[in-house]
Amino acid sequence: MVKVGDEFQVKIEALNHQAQGIAKLDGYVLFVDHVLLDEVLKVRIVEAKKEYARAEIVEIIEKSPYRKEPECPVYYRCGGCHLMHTTYENQLEIKRMLVEDAFRRIGKLSPKINHPIGMENPFRYRNKVQFPVGRDEKGVKIGFYKKMTHEIVPTDFCLIQHEDSDKVLSVMKEVIKKYGIEIYDERLHKGVIRHIMVRRSFAFDQMMIVLVCTRMPDRIEEIKEELIKSFPNLKSLYVNINSKKTNVILGEKDILVWGSPAISDKIGNLLFEISPESFFQVNTVQTEKLYNQVVRYLTEVGGRVVFDLYSGIGTISMFVAPYCEKVYAIEIVKQAVEDAIKSSIENKIANVEFIHADAEKKMKELIENDIIPDTVIVDPPRKGCEKELLESIISAGVKNFIYVSCNPSTLARDARILTDGGYELLKVQPVDMFPQTYHVENVVLFKRD
Ligand code: SAH
Repeated sequence: MVKVGDEFQVKIEALNHQAQGIAKLDGYVLFVDHVLLDEVLKVRIVEAKKEYARAEIVEIIEKSPYRKEPECPVYYRCGGCHLMHTTYENQLEIKRMLVEDAFRRIGKLSPKINHPIGMENPFRYRNKVQFPVGRDEKGVKIGFYKKMTHEIVPTDFCLIQHEDSDKVLSVMKEVIKKYGIEIYDERLHKGVIRHIMVRRSFAFDQMMIVLVCTRMPDRIEEIKEELIKSFPNLKSLYVNINSKKTNVILGEKDILVWGSPAISDKIGNLLFEISPESFFQVNTVQTEKLYNQVVRYLTEVGGRVVFDLYSGIGTISMFVAPYCEKVYAIEIVKQAVEDAIKSSIENKIANVEFIHADAEKKMKELIENDIIPDTVIVDPPRKGCEKELLESIISAGVKNFIYVSCNPSTLARDARILTDGGYELLKVQPVDMFPQTYHVENVVLFKRD
């Protein structure tokens, strides 16, 4: 039996869906972080279970030609990035393989997967960050969680974030000390500040800071003045109240402490309003490429009446609106629908109807009222589409279906349901929205006669 601390020499035979290396010891599976295909390594077991174990690198014996030094000094400890030890070109190839693998393993499908659309500069791309706040002997600790733990790896900067979030990190450390904001302790469920969220516009010099707290901090007026002084581009300051014992970051209430309720950003020529609770793709540069891919597929198959389900702040709806007669956008978060309506007015887009509802229920209702779309676009959260939603699409005989997915596993599962329901899977285009991590977005085109 393999024990924690045991060391073995292994060869990496494959990568799993989280880009972890898979090695085998007489059929027993080892998962190893930060390795590459075909590498031979000495590894040490860090966790041993009945079916599998996790191991870490002790020594690299045969190194992959695609290995490189990670740019970030905390890369091997922080859980945020997973592929910084390999070249960007190879990251893209790994992602293509992960998508191919998910379709084969979960969907029993083998479509051709296009080469992922990558970034010119795969760093400093994120427009949103949520830092956990904690403490240690030395004082305030802000950074990111170590993989699979709630242990904070402190850092002064993050290479995939906008530079401004580094500044917020250092200013907030001082502000917390100076105004005695009590730090939240998860285990005791005591204290005030839990997380700091920053949203940074890429098109405009605008920033939103959200302090996630169990209650309003005592000296909020002084804290506000300090932040306004430190950040001339601060446009919006919120305290989000999260008083529950939970892992969910944002809590029950957003209190606007100062400034505008939302910040603005642009994707292509379109302007968007973004509130604290609204979903907005984190990689502004790649989002334009992602939505252009949706437009390409849509114009290829055509669509007079289009449903955009899980529409967020209406980004995809507004992108495709010029190519259709009418778009119905359905989204469950009210703030996001309100943001969408405001942006559509600013963008002078009049053929989108924004509906605040559950996608599955509302779509059924529209179809029952004889509003049958030619094309349905979905962009669901990681858990994918509800089976009932796919079944209504199949039974309504919708011709074209465009699936935007941030999770290849649920995409493959749903693709199986659609192909069993009579759709043909025509194209799969991965887009790299999350360089340095294993995450990958896909745009998939389905069609039926
Ligand atoms: N298409 C948008 C948002 C995609 S994220 C964009 O590209 O920016 C997924 C969205 O689905 C989120 O805004 C989330 O609030 C919404 N959502 C989750 N469950 C939903 C449901 N059952 N019905 C409608 N929207 C839902």
